[in-house]
Amino acid sequence: MSIPIPITRTTQPRLSEATRESDRFGAVFSDHVLVAEFSDGQWGPAEIRPYGDTTLPVAPLVAHYGQGIFEGFKAFRQPDGGAALFRPDANLARMNRSAARLDMPALSAALFIEGTRALVDLDRGWIPTKEGSSLYIRPVHFATGETLGVRPSDRYRFVIETCPSPLYFTGAVDLITELVHVRAAPGGTGAIKCAGNYAGSLVAASRAQKQGFTNVLWLDSAERRYVEEAGMMNIVFVIDGVVVTPPIGDVDEGSILPGITRDSLLTLLRDGGYPVLERRIAIDEVFAAAAQGRLQGAAGVGTAATLAPLGRLSHKGEVLSLPPLALDSPLVVASRQLDDLRRGKIPDPYGWLVRV
Ligand SMILES: *Cc1c(COP(=O)(O)O)cnc(C)c1O
Repeated sequence: MSIPIPITRTTQPRLSEATRESDRFGAVFSDHVLVAEFSDGQWGPAEIRPYGDTTLPVAPLVAHYGQGIFEGFKAFRQPDGGAALFRPDANLARMNRSAARLDMPALSAALFIEGTRALVDLDRGWIPTKEGSSLYIRPVHFATGETLGVRPSDRYRFVIETCPSPLYFTGAVDLITELVHVRAAPGGTGAIKCAGNYAGSLVAASRAQKQGFTNVLWLDSAERRYVEEAGMMNIVFVIDGVVVTPPIGDVDEGSILPGITRDSLLTLLRDGGYPVLERRIAIDEVFAAAAQGRLQGAAGVGTAATLAPLGRLSHKGEVLSLPPLALDSPLVVASRQLDDLRRGKIPDPYGWLVRV
């Protein structure tokens, strides 16, 4: 099944210690990308070529009607000098749920997983070496057909880019509840990773930043009462020693993105014997628990940061300073375990790592 993917190597490599260890996430891409085109009802062969500009139609459907989805996951250096991808099958499954929701064609494992392996193998020198760093992998899938008719495109492009990822978020994340905009509503596209969800969130995030916060805390669309996501991360609280997080609905009804970091941490917590509750959490409950001394901390969770502890939380003029997560907090323990597993420092009983 695995036909080797043809490779055109760059003649102008940009790999250096400075580009590889850059401390600005996403500022520099690795030397190669994988590209495949969909037309006539099927995906054409993938190819790997130098990173650089390519042509696009003047009027691609993604620019008009927004058929564009993406993924994000990572490759980690392993103790034997090799590399491993973390749960690429989960990202493929999610990308195919996103594709189905936007009436776009699915991707095969041969294209998505074998394509990523071939690309990371070629650019393995780009995996940074500093503590806490990794190689970030960004697959994108978007409509390139040209028509103004509102219908699913008949042409698509799939691209995989990678970039060095330094240790993320050094400080605590400060959030302010967003009371005007919503990120997603039940029946909408909140449960998939589509470009439009991000476009709709930018104004709220900028407003939060102007007020001195890192990002917004998204609340539910109906009542602006229940906590949904921490910017572009899932959110977890520790209340009365129990890890509590809002539940993920299904792809059609859910308004929270089913994060793979969230799922991995919950799995490690449950298997480690820590109680975990998936239930709705009202913002007032968070403030009340803090006032009663029952809140032991909170964090955003996602691929980029793994665990980003919350610092301040602002809601309707009240500002809460969250207690820092203790070193023996279940969240910190599980997050360290997850990091050790991804870096091959402890066994991987779940089969989450895929060697490159
Ligand atoms: C990608 C994303 C997450 C985190 O998902 P991971 O798979 O853990 O990286 C959470 N919320 C939103 C809105 C996202 O787009």
